Amino acid sequence: TETFLKAIDDADALNAFVHKTPELALERAKAADVRIAQGDAPDMCGLPIGIKDLFCTKGVPSQAASAILEGFKPEYESTISQKLEDSGAVMLGKLNMDEFAMGSSNETSVYGNAINPWRRGNDDAALTPGGSSGGSASAVAADLCLAATGTDTGGSIRQPAAFTGITGIKPTYGRCSRWGVVAFASSLDQAGPMTKDVRDAAIMLEAMCGHDEKDSTSVDLAVPNFEAMLTGDIRGKKIGIPKEYRMDGMPAEIEKLWADGTEMLKAAGAEIVDISLPHTKYALPAYYVIAPAEASSNLARYDGVRYGHRATLAAGDGITEMYEKTRAEGFGHEVQRRVMVGTYVLSAGFYDAYYNRARRVRTLIKQDFENVFAQGIDAILTPATPSAAFGLGEMTDADPIQMYLNDVFTVTVNLAGLPGISVPTGVDSQGLPLGLQLIGRPWEEGDLLNTAYALE
Ligand code: GLN
Repeated sequence: TETFLKAIDDADALNAFVHKTPELALERAKAADVRIAQGDAPDMCGLPIGIKDLFCTKGVPSQAASAILEGFKPEYESTISQKLEDSGAVMLGKLNMDEFAMGSSNETSVYGNAINPWRRGNDDAALTPGGSSGGSASAVAADLCLAATGTDTGGSIRQPAAFTGITGIKPTYGRCSRWGVVAFASSLDQAGPMTKDVRDAAIMLEAMCGHDEKDSTSVDLAVPNFEAMLTGDIRGKKIGIPKEYRMDGMPAEIEKLWADGTEMLKAAGAEIVDISLPHTKYALPAYYVIAPAEASSNLARYDGVRYGHRATLAAGDGITEMYEKTRAEGFGHEVQRRVMVGTYVLSAGFYDAYYNRARRVRTLIKQDFENVFAQGIDAILTPATPSAAFGLGEMTDADPIQMYLNDVFTVTVNLAGLPGISVPTGVDSQGLPLGLQLIGRPWEEGDLLNTAYALE
């Protein structure tokens, strides 16, 4: 723990940790030492980790990287961070992210963006670690902690994992409790581990999963010993290659990565099957209707009364002015854009045309996956991202669609509630990491991890 705390201080330039908790960490590390000495060490005993700022941590600032939650120190601990603490993990601090987890580059954070420890060839220009779990990815890649929590609503674990050469898994919707995790889009949000490799992901996921009566969408299913399922034996498994993910203009390097990954799984004894997921092209537009709709509702609670920031009011201002001024000051651009889009698509005149239609598209996307799983497909292999990490400021606020296109391979998984994992499998011509995504059957994270294990 001391070594990692020092590494964090030395790496302030990466802006990965936004609230450090050294005293708490040392206290928990000492407690872990005692448990180890007593021979009562749970799986993650003494392992130093980072927690994304989206998780409420008791007495520790939990701001979702937003100005509106400035000064907010929860009175309670999220179920996930509590479970990790119970399994002996030592929290070193809170990690940077896009504001309210909205973004793909960590550039919407009130703390300023985290930085990717990787560089393009000899170029010194700073690159994004991806988002929204950018601080988590940067911290794990730079060895500032052994592992970190992330959350994934449309790709926020898998995309930053791919951009930084680490492993990230989004479990099946309902595997991990969302209690105490600041809500973005409740029907899509899932927490998951971001780790160095698949084995670490298996160990950490087991510690995070499980039924929680405080989250009615968390399922009451036994949590397997995921690590024990890592045999590397994938003989006879059917891996689907969906043709709709071969997008026009896909960089040759991504094509090659995908082909190499396919060969690797084949060499390990898997059967490769061409499949079709016909509604894939509607996933991104559907996501960017559903996610903002849910966000506009979830973010209504930030009213200047219950949490965090309240604007200074002028004489004569009433409650409406308080809401307006507080929300205008407290929310950044991207969050305001999402609240506006969400409010629009939910409004009486447009609800059917946008929100309901997007929900129907979501059902079709889910059925696409059900159909291929019914044909015996065990997992689906796709690229995790359409490119390697890009430069900070390269995709600007002026063109949000360009940023949204980053999520083209990942959002389908959230819309269908499936587990998905990003595994680092190569580098581009400039030496930047690239990742492949495996999508699994619902509740079969163990199998998915094992296939990923054969790929890494
Ligand atoms: N980049 C996507 C978005 O901005 C996904 C974010 C996430 O998964 N939290 O909505």
